[in-house]
Amino acid sequence: MSVHAPASQLAPARTAPATPATFHPRRPTVLSYGLGADSTAILLMFLADPAAHGLEPDLSDLIVVHAITGDEFVDSLDYVNRLVLPLLRARSVRLVQVCRGGKSDTDGVLVLDDCRAPRRIHAAGPWCLSDELRAAGTVPRLAIGQRRCSIRFKGWVLDNWAAAEFGARTFRRVIGYHADELGRAEKDTAIQRRLNTEAGRTICEPHYPLILARMDRAAVEAYVLACLGEPIKKSYCAMCPFSGVCASRDRHEERLRAHPHVAADVLRLEYVSMALNEQMSLYGPAGSLYGRLTEDGRNRAVLDAFQTGLDQTPYAVYEIRRITFVGRTKDCRRWHGKKRDEPKWWCSWQRTPRCRRIHTIVDEDGAAVDVEPHPSGPDRCRGKQQKGQTWRSVRTVYEGPRARAELIVNRFAERSRGAVRLVTGGVSGIRRAHYLPDTEGLPRIEAFIVAAPAGVADKQRPGFEKKWTKHTGRRLTRFRPLRELPQPVRRKRSSGGPPRCTVPGRSGTSC
Ligand code: SF4
Ligand SMILES: [Zn+2]
Ligand SMILES: [Zn+2]
Repeated sequence: MSVHAPASQLAPARTAPATPATFHPRRPTVLSYGLGADSTAILLMFLADPAAHGLEPDLSDLIVVHAITGDEFVDSLDYVNRLVLPLLRARSVRLVQVCRGGKSDTDGVLVLDDCRAPRRIHAAGPWCLSDELRAAGTVPRLAIGQRRCSIRFKGWVLDNWAAAEFGARTFRRVIGYHADELGRAEKDTAIQRRLNTEAGRTICEPHYPLILARMDRAAVEAYVLACLGEPIKKSYCAMCPFSGVCASRDRHEERLRAHPHVAADVLRLEYVSMALNEQMSLYGPAGSLYGRLTEDGRNRAVLDAFQTGLDQTPYAVYEIRRITFVGRTKDCRRWHGKKRDEPKWWCSWQRTPRCRRIHTIVDEDGAAVDVEPHPSGPDRCRGKQQKGQTWRSVRTVYEGPRARAELIVNRFAERSRGAVRLVTGGVSGIRRAHYLPDTEGLPRIEAFIVAAPAGVADKQRPGFEKKWTKHTGRRLTRFRPLRELPQPVRRKRSSGGPPRCTVPGRSGTSC
């Protein structure tokens, strides 16, 4: 059993200069608590010396809020349960545990616990990130440069809880960016400033105590260790692929080895994702988790648990149809704005560097003149075709044992030899039976059936069939789907309740 100092004896000044109290004393302070080293260090600093951080001596104005993704490693929960919660109970600090109420935003935010004597950190709410990924047949990914998972499961939840809790009252929002994350903090501040301006009031003031205390990650970990007597592990979802959020490769694999069944679930998530799209491994072009784990003999137990799980789990055959459209180049957006009439060659083809160099118009002083690119497009001016959106239709056409599902795929290819190609994924090794010819260029059309673990929800955009027929001349799926598509959820119009301040670009947390 570890021994740790009582909160009253914790002294952050040993590792960091005192943080100036920059805050209006009557405003509540909200600490986004991600269970990791950074936010734990801040919490310990607050407990040790509330006044130095602009808090009431009894901490009655501090609210610690934890957004639950449902996929933290159990040892992270255990660490906080054993070493941090007793300190909160001893000082009657308010801890609020919130999560998504369901898949849809209309399911709202659920408060799983809100008290000053918390006994445990909830492992999961009714809708976890892994539920969402399983149903979508994908892995965490960036959307327009943002971590969509973090926005949906943390930022959105925290923002909506805060809107309901504070209404028009200003609060201080504390985030655990450390001294090496100045850029992230600056971006966060700029976004909050814009939001405050747009709202015509100060919704909240961001505050970064670790940056003010000039504590980098190593100092943070050392401080938590000194206070709590046990090294803290990085807190992140087991399937997190993002560097900087997830632990280093060695530490992450060590953790997966310690939790082989969690690791097997993550591998299954990746397997299904790659079955539906070969490119969608956990690390994308940098490879798959499965590939990484096979490079180290110590991962045998994890890989065995994964393979055994695949053999035992119910399978499905999915029919996947995909259209990748031609997109608009930066030049097109720059010169044609929202209009798409009278397209030029450079609207859908990127200009080569050579084209930019030799076909730039200059004035008599040799300075580049800002005019539309030239209208005629000799071949050597054309670079890559601009890739646009991809629309995907997923329909389940069979459910049953793995062997039978794989047989259906193989038989389809054998019986329609010539018209159907059996293609084995280069990374995944998964076989897909493609029934449309491989084409070059855009729009790119793909259609295949593949066997993979069951659980992916049937999904396609409302306009998909129309586009499919337009681009392929075909109607509907090749196989009969097992079920109808779910009705699209109508988004509720705002009833004038508290403002929702979820913002792309800000996750509201440090992940
Ligand atoms: S970024 Fe990583 S840790 Fe954060 S929500 Fe996404 S998967 Fe989880
Ligand atoms: Zn254009
Ligand atoms: Zn040119």
